[in-house]
Amino acid sequence: MKIICIGRNYVNHISELGNDKPEEPIIFLKPDTALLKEDSFYIPNFSSDVHHEIEIVVKISKVGKFIDAKFAYKYYNEISVGIDFTARDVQQKLKEKGLPWEKSKAFDSSALVGDFISVEGLDMENLNLELLKNGVSQQSGNTNQMLWRIDELIAYVSQYFTLKTGDLIFTGTPSGVSRVKINDVLEGFLNEKQLFKITIK
Ligand code: MG
Repeated sequence: MKIICIGRNYVNHISELGNDKPEEPIIFLKPDTALLKEDSFYIPNFSSDVHHEIEIVVKISKVGKFIDAKFAYKYYNEISVGIDFTARDVQQKLKEKGLPWEKSKAFDSSALVGDFISVEGLDMENLNLELLKNGVSQQSGNTNQMLWRIDELIAYVSQYFTLKTGDLIFTGTPSGVSRVKINDVLEGFLNEKQLFKITIK
């Protein structure tokens, strides 16, 4: 499986990092080794500024290429929230040099994915996502604030990459990203339902 991530999909997050609004979706990949397999996230020793980015995660349920946005809903049955862990200090250096982001975004355990829930009955264009850090709301947003809706992202991504069963799409983060510290507890919610809880180590 592969993990496809979308960058800069919420205007308030673009502003907080001082980035320009993109003309088309920004895509990057994480390998399967990026999937976090335990209830703890260990800050890697190559970074002193790892940020959490909570995102809606879509799990692809069948193979597709050149998917039309109006049929994209047929390619997923389950969603969750996850964290695109980002070594912001490493990313900043790479960005300054115009180099690829992988070292800052695709390292081992950089993709946390919560429990999946069925999309049945959900309005994909009105989903709340929220991250609590040590019990306090740190990031919150709604899919109605996305520059590109989930179905548009699937259509766009599938022009370049064949989507396969089990692939995951991280759909971008709202504002409120911040540095994680040892002993922080992060909890992720989708429509007020808790889908993950982890400790930083
Ligand atoms: Mg992200």
